[in-house]
Amino acid sequence: MPAKPDLLASITLLYVEDDPDIRVQMVKFLSRRIQHLVIAENGRDGLDKFLAHNPDIVVTDIMMPEMDGLQMAKAIREKNRDIPIVVMTAHNDDEYFIKSIDLGIDRYVLKPTNPKFLIEAVEKCAQLLVSKRQQEEANRYVRFLLDAQPNFLMVITGGYVEYINQAFLDFLGFSSVDHFRERVGNVGNLLFTAEGKNIDAEGCWLNLLVKNPERFPIIYLKSQLLENLVPFALKTNSLYEQDRHLFSFIDITYIENEKRQLETQAFTDALTGVCNRARLQGVLEGELHRSRRHNLPISIILGDIDHFKRVNDTYGHQVGDDVLKRFAKLLRENVRAEDIVARWGGEEFMVVSPLSDIKATGLLAEKLRRIIESETFSTVGKVTCSFGIAQARREDSIRTLTERADKALYKAKTNGRNRVENDA
Ligand code: GH3
Ligand code: MG
Ligand code: MG
Repeated sequence: MPAKPDLLASITLLYVEDDPDIRVQMVKFLSRRIQHLVIAENGRDGLDKFLAHNPDIVVTDIMMPEMDGLQMAKAIREKNRDIPIVVMTAHNDDEYFIKSIDLGIDRYVLKPTNPKFLIEAVEKCAQLLVSKRQQEEANRYVRFLLDAQPNFLMVITGGYVEYINQAFLDFLGFSSVDHFRERVGNVGNLLFTAEGKNIDAEGCWLNLLVKNPERFPIIYLKSQLLENLVPFALKTNSLYEQDRHLFSFIDITYIENEKRQLETQAFTDALTGVCNRARLQGVLEGELHRSRRHNLPISIILGDIDHFKRVNDTYGHQVGDDVLKRFAKLLRENVRAEDIVARWGGEEFMVVSPLSDIKATGLLAEKLRRIIESETFSTVGKVTCSFGIAQARREDSIRTLTERADKALYKAKTNGRNRVENDA
């Protein structure tokens, strides 16, 4: 086979031979084909030069003084398990031959050596070396592409974590895939449903995600670096015949936050920041249902600022707005955490007070009334408010309950304002 100069041009070859005649003859031949040739005269010299030059292929004689070829090969193997080693052996070197099998010597060339055969052996090693390097290069390139992905990628092969890209490792807080495998026994432990349930509670996570990906369009991930679960859109690609599955996780925190913000906006009164009427409707419905089911009291307070029109007329709408803001803040700050403050409309506010009967609610309304009364509102000074309260009856709907509170409020207005009345 003719030598391919391009194949051999890129390699560095270490040639070890103690016999000066053979050495001179072989070097003459080899140097015509191989650009980077390192020559050593015995095993010891060979090992030193191996360490100094880091060659791609080693060709060595066996019987040599100081350190023989196999001792040298053993020492080299300890430094580099993969480097191809070619030994030149004579017919009578049987014992060495057997030892060399243990060392995983790649090729043998008989002595006296026909240089053509030696070149052929070296060329075969070089061929393997080049294709291995090309393979490594291709792998490196694929890794580079995958690691450059901002999305999180994970490959599971035969149930085993084969690959996790860098972005994903960074997010999860692991330095390498090995580190991940060491610390995370079961990937399922990191995956949660939108309801915050661990996915493994429903069965094997891999089966669930591979067989019913549409059931889990959104998956929450737990990172050891973050307290909260993080939402991801999940895409699964499978090579079934290889039992190989690629999971792509796309961070949707931004979208989820936006959604939450929109929801908050939709349920919040823009001026005062308390619940709006739409939200109040939902809350009240739920609370009435709950109190009925568990036979627990629930009451509401309807407050209407006294003579508020005058505030607007005297100081302008902007000052009126400021009073409403301050007023709502005072309500919010002076009710319990479980009480809900909502803007009922205009200068009317409602407090929903779960677990409170009419007596407790009367005390709360009176407390609020006094707090408003004693507050000095900027520009305006004194502001008062009238309150009507009502406790829910079993048969009440939202409408009938609020009607009674409204009647009580009307009573408070007609009885002189700045007071609390109930629906009795
Ligand atoms: P009463 O003691 O009988 O409740 O008298 P009132 O003047 O408070 O009652 P009325 O219902 O006659 O007037 C309510 C006023 O509240 C009229 C309206 O312009 C004002 N108002 C309603 N919503 C807002 C608002 O968002 N901002 C401002 N500045 N004023 C508002
Ligand atoms: Mg009013
Ligand atoms: Mg009013």
